[in-house]
Amino acid sequence: MKEKLNKKERTSPLDLRKIREDFPILSRSVNKKPLVYADNAATTQKPKNVIHRLSEYYSDENANVHRGVHTLSECATEAFEESRQVIQRFLNARSTREIVFTRGTTEAINLVAQSYALKQLKAGEEIIISTLEHHSNIVPWQIACQKTGAKLRVAPVNDSGELIFEEYEKLVNKKTKLVALTHISNALGTVNPVQKLTKMAKEVGAVVLIDGAQSIIHAKIDVQAIGCDFYAFSGHKALGPTGIGVLYGREEVLEAMEPWQSGGDMIKTVSFEETTYNEIPYKFEAGTPNIAGAIGLSEAINYFSQFDLEKVEQHEHCLLDKAIERALVIPNLQLIGTAKKKSSICSFVVKGVHPNDLGTLLDQQGVAIRSGHHCAMPLMSRLKVPGTARASFAFYNSQEDVDKVFDAIEKALFILAA
Ligand code: PMP
Repeated sequence: MKEKLNKKERTSPLDLRKIREDFPILSRSVNKKPLVYADNAATTQKPKNVIHRLSEYYSDENANVHRGVHTLSECATEAFEESRQVIQRFLNARSTREIVFTRGTTEAINLVAQSYALKQLKAGEEIIISTLEHHSNIVPWQIACQKTGAKLRVAPVNDSGELIFEEYEKLVNKKTKLVALTHISNALGTVNPVQKLTKMAKEVGAVVLIDGAQSIIHAKIDVQAIGCDFYAFSGHKALGPTGIGVLYGREEVLEAMEPWQSGGDMIKTVSFEETTYNEIPYKFEAGTPNIAGAIGLSEAINYFSQFDLEKVEQHEHCLLDKAIERALVIPNLQLIGTAKKKSSICSFVVKGVHPNDLGTLLDQQGVAIRSGHHCAMPLMSRLKVPGTARASFAFYNSQEDVDKVFDAIEKALFILAA
């Protein structure tokens, strides 16, 4: 009866067979074994329509955007600006003026650090981040603090890898000018209550940036509901191309900011005596943008939007539950990151086994996972591990994939123990 119930609970609400057909790479082999891709937190695979759209753009529409009077330039500009609209609607931003194209999350955060933090922060003021952050959401703030004399405060996590709300609450005060927190931890999968954390920061008038690199295709994103001033994400972790990302910025905040890079497109007029800047978001998009990338990203968002997010979340939870269930019966395996609210990321260590050795032995079996510090060295130190092995799943992964990952882990551990 119990087994029947489990089986029933695990029936995916998604048509996985059909979805997997949309991702050509999922049917290739690696090391003569069918690929099992469980490194989605590093980057996601791309559906056919995104691959096709990139090829179509370059075959048929390629031209530089803005100011061109010829047909192709108009065509490329239209597609590029339509992409901005797709992203605006997806994030529920108020206007396309709030959508800045960047190279990715890292560049988006650096933009805010340079254009906002460096200009606004004064000595003695404070920036709050958390122990959960990716290096991309630590180092830009460290630099901003070094240059301004502001202080970096770090909200701690508990042993499960959850941000301790009471400790965060203690850090938020009148000196807090900026709060930069991740939505979902890439190393552990912890989901932060971003709305609640943002609300607290807004009560003292701080500006809030949410690092959405891991959340964009795993959680509902509504920047107005979250109430943040900035939201950053990367296209490549959301079924889109590499080299494109987005910074959502609340209009009033973006308006008040200076450009950070200069050159073409970000200007209105240039003379040797004086230069005036373009309006937002173009003020922050110096040089020829990644036109194909933006178009590919909107295709990815359109593709993903056809799915019911609740079903996606339900499916991914089942994958995580199964992964945890399989992990827990492996001798000497310790799960790292056991937050109550987690996305489909399973990080772990096995006593006496280097995560890289495990990763290599899995690769030989066609299974892709990641090992190392996941660009979160302070978090690894806090949890007293040099690194972890991390299997991260997306909605196109199946229960069978999870089984294959853990079958491969068991086999690898058997080989290492021999
Ligand atoms: N933040 C988080 C939480 C991430 O997972 C990543 C990528 N691993 C980044 C920031 C940086 O993203 P990108 O390298 O695409 O700029």
